[in-house]
Amino acid sequence: MDYSKTSIGVAIRIRPLLPDEALKGHTNSYIEADSSSQSIIVSNIQQNINKRYKFDTTLEETASQEEVFNELKIETLVKKVVEGFNATIFAYGQTGSGKTFTMEGYEYDSRLRPIIKDNENIGLAPRSIKALFNELQNKKSTDFTVYCTYIQLYKENIYDLLNPAHTKAGLKLRWNKHEEFYVENVFMHPCHTAQEVLTYYHQGLKNKIMASHNVNAASSRSHSILSLIVEAVNNKVGKITTSRMQLVDLAGSEKTSLTGNEGMALKESIEINKALFTLRQVISALSTARIGEPSFVPYRDSKLTSLLKQSIGGNSYCVMIACIAPIDDYFDENVSTLLYATKAG
Ligand code: ADP
Ligand code: MG
Repeated sequence: MDYSKTSIGVAIRIRPLLPDEALKGHTNSYIEADSSSQSIIVSNIQQNINKRYKFDTTLEETASQEEVFNELKIETLVKKVVEGFNATIFAYGQTGSGKTFTMEGYEYDSRLRPIIKDNENIGLAPRSIKALFNELQNKKSTDFTVYCTYIQLYKENIYDLLNPAHTKAGLKLRWNKHEEFYVENVFMHPCHTAQEVLTYYHQGLKNKIMASHNVNAASSRSHSILSLIVEAVNNKVGKITTSRMQLVDLAGSEKTSLTGNEGMALKESIEINKALFTLRQVISALSTARIGEPSFVPYRDSKLTSLLKQSIGGNSYCVMIACIAPIDDYFDENVSTLLYATKAG
């Protein structure tokens, strides 16, 4: 990933075949990442398929969480945020493709507490939080406060993962006089250390699991958005600037007909697909605008894109990580993920 060449980057991460999938007889005979040419090769001789898709970054099955953090140059993104730019990281893909593993890296115990088996597996969100504070501490002339919000978007309703008491009714999306969207009454607490933010984040992870039991909003059907809002006060000139970094674990991109997904109501599926469709429209409109053709950016067509307006257009950097579960049965879904990511970039 090279943010000096592109401010909208697309990466593909292929996760490994899991031991229980192998035990059930699943195989992968057609999809692989070639990181030397940053492409994904989809080939199957019997079916006469042979295609190569090129991306900014491709991450092979063996890529560790640390390699993902390094290859995607998340530290560079964090530096941009400290300089006053906005940044967004998305994880896209069908349920089970590795979005949450990539962003969080946590599993949960029987009491729904997030656990990690080993430090190597922690994901991009906690790594970004630590990197952000490292970077902020290096800047001596400026005082920083970081506000963290963590929300879940389910069927166009906004739930506050840091304040579940507000969860039942959902929060409202408002529009301020600077033409910016904001979430009214969202829980936001000033933090001065990485540990403070991580404590809120872990509380949010726990509430996310609880919400999936109480409100029937399984996280596979909601988008989770962790926002780190950096307020900087330059001591010499007294100027205040605000920038934000958002980490988004998108709802599963599968269609209703997918097996294992029978419980999903059609309306729910339509809404998820509409939000993901709009996100792609927005990203491709921004990519074309950057190469000189002004185009209309349909942010307002979904709450997801409205919420992300400030951090994907204009003065911002954005990286989409499209996740792939390399299983032959998911051929159609994986090709659809590759096409989505191709058009997004
Ligand atoms: P999603 O959020 O897209 O539904 P998950 O992140 O929950 O998918 O991943 C599905 C399963 O695969 C989880 O058990 C997760 O731990 C495992 N997994 C995902 N990516 C990897 C990886 N790169 N290495 C090892 N296990 C992974
Ligand atoms: Mg998930």
